[in-house]
Amino acid sequence: MKFPLLVASMALALGTIGCAQTNSPSGPALANLNQAKEPAAVTPPANTQANTHRIPTALEQSIIAWRRDIHQHPELGNREFRTAGLVEQHLTALGMQVHTGIAHTGVVGLLTGGKPGPVIALRADMDALPVKEQTGLPFASTATAEYRGEQVPVMHACGHDMHVAMLMGAAEYLAKHRNDIHGTVMFIFQPAEEGAPPGEEGGAELMLKEGLFDIAKPDAIFGIHVGSNSPAGHVGYKSGPAMASSDRFQITVEGVQTHGSRPWGGADPIVAAASIVNNAQTIVSRQLNLTEAPAVLSFGIIQGGMRNNIIPDQVYLEGTLRNFDMGLRATMFEKLTQVAEHTAAAHNTKATVTINEGYPVTINNPELMARMLPTTERVVGSDKLTPAGLGTAAEDFSFYALEVPGKYVFLGGAHPGQDPSTAAGNHSPFFNPHESTLRVGTELFINWVFDFGAQATQP
Ligand SMILES: [Zn+2]
Ligand SMILES: [Zn+2]
Repeated sequence: MKFPLLVASMALALGTIGCAQTNSPSGPALANLNQAKEPAAVTPPANTQANTHRIPTALEQSIIAWRRDIHQHPELGNREFRTAGLVEQHLTALGMQVHTGIAHTGVVGLLTGGKPGPVIALRADMDALPVKEQTGLPFASTATAEYRGEQVPVMHACGHDMHVAMLMGAAEYLAKHRNDIHGTVMFIFQPAEEGAPPGEEGGAELMLKEGLFDIAKPDAIFGIHVGSNSPAGHVGYKSGPAMASSDRFQITVEGVQTHGSRPWGGADPIVAAASIVNNAQTIVSRQLNLTEAPAVLSFGIIQGGMRNNIIPDQVYLEGTLRNFDMGLRATMFEKLTQVAEHTAAAHNTKATVTINEGYPVTINNPELMARMLPTTERVVGSDKLTPAGLGTAAEDFSFYALEVPGKYVFLGGAHPGQDPSTAAGNHSPFFNPHESTLRVGTELFINWVFDFGAQATQP
């Protein structure tokens, strides 16, 4: 195995302290997925509040404290040394097999349940952003770090501090109840979800490249992202494609430099580039079958020329592509290359197109989504579960979900009384989800593990 194995001790049962299951009969009588089956040797858990694992208040307080500490000490992608250290220490103390240093700072813990069953992966991302925090919170970040050769402020402006704290909380609860777990739980603490620094690799893609799924191949992987565009504790979910792929394209148009007064003496890359920008708009509107999936093509950079009376020899263009279908994504790469090259040729210039593939489409496995929906509904309450639309942002959870069935949901964090439509969103210097989301996210992780494991072992 290519990662340093720090601890391989499997602790004995840690007791059942903290099991605060509720017996509220108020939950809706949801259909038990297993009721349709013949009586099984192992009785499946009823899908009721009585079987919902709720974390004790003391653990919730710990999770809040971890989150505040991590929030106050944010670290940029591939530099999550302190955060990874906290996680490693925590998982080791819980008696897990711990792997560190994956994709620079990634940490993975393996917890073997008391009963045989599947491998269930839970993922949290650990990185912060070059943003100057303006929340005014008592634990606001004043941290700085080097980024692109400059000293920049750093903030957990995307809520990854919460993801780490929730998964640490889930690890603690599940370790204490390991005897009741069917299967093995894999805790993945991932670096650099927001992208590695220029010139470096990172994130989910690098963890997989370095053999993450050689440690254990999950039968399902679960992820949560906090936001503020819905009330705290509300969950948005979308089966199938949920978030877009994100790919960067670069186009260089080469012409022949000449005097601005004598354009016939050269080949004008500025006019050619302008035509490429316009013609590229017809790819989405005229050439892609938009009944299959929407797509976005945007130019963000156009550079060329030095002086009003010189037609330059080169223009540089750059932009982003977003897709919700992996097939249409490949088609879009082809079409953009074709349009740019042929348009440039029509102007006696030459276009060179480079596609830098970013994150794939985040696809939630429909079967896994359907199977875990009753659990999700039970944890958050049916009135707080809402189907979500497509999101044009991208997420590197997509790499895992292309390899194994994945379920990724959005957890609301708007404060009570706050209008979610005006709450500061992810990446804002004012981003501040309500801390009650920590309990909800932790309990989602925990209950997905218990229910997926138990259901997977039914004959
Ligand atoms: Zn983000
Ligand atoms: Zn994020």
